[in-house]
Amino acid sequence: GQADLIEPAAVQDLFAAPFSIEGQDVQVSATLGLVRLLEHDGTATDALKDADIALKRAKSQRRGGHFYFSRGMGVEIRERVRLMHALRGGFARGELFLAYQPQVELAGRRAFGAEALLRWRTEDGRFVPPDRFIPIAEYSGLIIDIGAWVLREACAELVRVRAAGHLDFTMSINVSQVQFRHPHFIDMLRQALAGTGAPPERVELEITESMAMEEPDLLIERLAEIKRTGVSIAIDDFGTGFSSLSYLQRLRVDRLKIDRAFVTEITDAARGSSIAEMVIELGRNLGLSIIAEGVEDERQAQILQTLGCPLAQGYLFARPLAPEALIEWLGNDALTRAA
Ligand code: C2E
Ligand code: MG
Ligand code: MG
Repeated sequence: GQADLIEPAAVQDLFAAPFSIEGQDVQVSATLGLVRLLEHDGTATDALKDADIALKRAKSQRRGGHFYFSRGMGVEIRERVRLMHALRGGFARGELFLAYQPQVELAGRRAFGAEALLRWRTEDGRFVPPDRFIPIAEYSGLIIDIGAWVLREACAELVRVRAAGHLDFTMSINVSQVQFRHPHFIDMLRQALAGTGAPPERVELEITESMAMEEPDLLIERLAEIKRTGVSIAIDDFGTGFSSLSYLQRLRVDRLKIDRAFVTEITDAARGSSIAEMVIELGRNLGLSIIAEGVEDERQAQILQTLGCPLAQGYLFARPLAPEALIEWLGNDALTRAA
């Protein structure tokens, strides 16, 4: 009956006072994952699994508290597990590929490089967006193998582009935090460079600003190691985090990438007060290269150029291109200039 129901607080109260173990006071906290059995219609094993799902949720979001299992939680987790298996299989079957989005000099509208962007086309021809599958790849550790493949593949494309005559072309490659922290990351980078023959000084790694804010010492050490390979570093989505000026200086990165959100607002911001303008100023003061991402219309391009941002990337110039389309696009670009 109702009176027999134990409230979570009653369980947590048991842990309020420290336990005495061999004369020592030991404080223990309890985190609870709960299932309402009256609403549960599965087997006992299912109920235990669901309690475990609720417990995992509580551990990550409410330590020392409790979470009741809800159907939505189960659906979400099962969906994530399903996607993880699909990704593992899809990667093995070669369903992942890279698209390349050209990066241009605003002044002459000439392409000087491209960003490699991961794509996943499933067996039935549907595309799963990277914002959806990359977190799962990170969470499951798959990103280590996928990321190593991305490095090799993008370096190989760089070599193909160079063979087509574009010798001053730079390839930008996104690196996830999980990948970056891996003890063998530098080896994987070196192998990608050596295995493909890509020149390190034409390769740039993009790390995100949020990543730049964690564990400063490890990061500074890592970045120094990367720079010793000859590869350069850009900070992606710049402006969304809160990295301090002095810290930025210590990181010794080469380029800041103005986040798309600040490019979008540039046309409605009152002149002289946009975040984009501040980032451009910051880059200039620190002697860093600046590129704007997500440039979609001519006005944004004009304003950025006026503000002193020399480089840009976005739908206005080109969408991410299939591998076979990049070299052709670069060729056309050269022809347009010659005409
Ligand atoms: P990001 O690195 O900031 O990439 C820029 C995103 O903006 C890309 O989305 C690109 O397709 C999109 N974009 C480019 N120009 C425009 C524009 O003019 N307008 C709009 N609305 N969007 C534009 P995408 O390809 O969906 O990638 C999303 C994110 O997934 C990337 O953000 C990056 O964080 C991550 N990602 C992509 N490829 C990789 C990869 O190989 N490794 C890792 N670790 N992350 C990756
Ligand atoms: Mg990027
Ligand atoms: Mg970005």
